[in-house]
Amino acid sequence: MSSHAIMRPRIKRAVQAAALLAGAILIVIPQPVSALDPVTSTLHPWYNPDFKANRCVPGTGSPQLVGSENAEKIWNYFLAKRVHPVLIAGIMGNMQAESGFRPDIVQGGSTSNTPRPGVGFGLSQWTPAGRQKLLIDRAKAAGKQPSDLGVQLDYIWWELTDQASFYKKRAGDPLFAVDPNSSSALRDATNVYLLKYEAPKVPNLSERLSAAKRILAKYGGNTPTGGGSVISESEDACAPDGSNGSLIGGMSLPTDQKWYDHNPRFFTKPHHDYPAADIPVPVGTPIYAVTAGTVIQAPTSSARSGYGLGVKIDAGNGIIMIYGHGTDGGSIQGAKKGDVVKPGQLIMHSGNTGRSTGPHLHLEIRVNGTKVCPQNLLDALGKGQTPPDIKSLPRSGCSY
Ligand SMILES: [Zn+2]
Repeated sequence: MSSHAIMRPRIKRAVQAAALLAGAILIVIPQPVSALDPVTSTLHPWYNPDFKANRCVPGTGSPQLVGSENAEKIWNYFLAKRVHPVLIAGIMGNMQAESGFRPDIVQGGSTSNTPRPGVGFGLSQWTPAGRQKLLIDRAKAAGKQPSDLGVQLDYIWWELTDQASFYKKRAGDPLFAVDPNSSSALRDATNVYLLKYEAPKVPNLSERLSAAKRILAKYGGNTPTGGGSVISESEDACAPDGSNGSLIGGMSLPTDQKWYDHNPRFFTKPHHDYPAADIPVPVGTPIYAVTAGTVIQAPTSSARSGYGLGVKIDAGNGIIMIYGHGTDGGSIQGAKKGDVVKPGQLIMHSGNTGRSTGPHLHLEIRVNGTKVCPQNLLDALGKGQTPPDIKSLPRSGCSY
């Protein structure tokens, strides 16, 4: 919102250098091991116009902030509001340029918990005293600081959607009027947010569009098509974000049933190189324990290596279950190392951490150290049939 981008040139150069470096790394790294295969990518859930929000948090005005870094939390916030991923990327490309996703950053590069009139502050570098006061008032009402990430996101959401907001009065609905299926959708969303919401004196679209592209590639898994710009706000059939609820034979699907109903192939297709299953679901999707067991490792590894932030569960009888590539494996209450979990219990939210090229859940089952094929088990659970004994699952034939 500031008349200039907020960062001092030195910081800005560093950010640009980091962005260039990130680009360079992308070029040299060989194809990751645990990746969505091309077939899966073309079947991404967002291609379905009936795609519903991935996550519901009943009883609260705003969703939980799920993720390991601010960018991921912001992505998940808008996704839970059912904003189309292309539009989220447009918003976030702007935020990257304004604040680098830091809610406490002050124009010039220092940090503070509260804004000063006339000086850019926070995610969108709000500058006018009037808008800053609205932010401060909302923070007070929530018992939090104006620098709180959730408070700022709620404020942005209010500005974008409430008829009484300055933005809505001035600009109407240009962001949500962007057709996310058009070939210029990402550019249009980024530009409209830049001109109508941020309105800097020097509109640097190319920098913001590059950032939007990186964000969409990182969190979107694919360039989505299908669906409205705001995916229906009213209808809501998703289970509470706590447990799957439907157990068959004492076991649970690792996701809500709707993902199996949406496309059973996500659960039954072969894995790319060894017995396991890759289930494509958006970042932030609740993941449940298939079986009861004891958490023996969470997170499974760092956000960057191998399984990413996953959960490893000892299900007894020599059976180990590994849930990989989560956003928050190891940080969910009741699913930390040493905890005993029930089938259907929420253990993490899916993500794109570790060696992964697109958002998905990697499910691996080991019986006495040997990897077995989860596909028959998942298919039976998805169909509501009695699941096969895990020890009887095939040890080959589900990889290519
Ligand atoms: Zn995998």
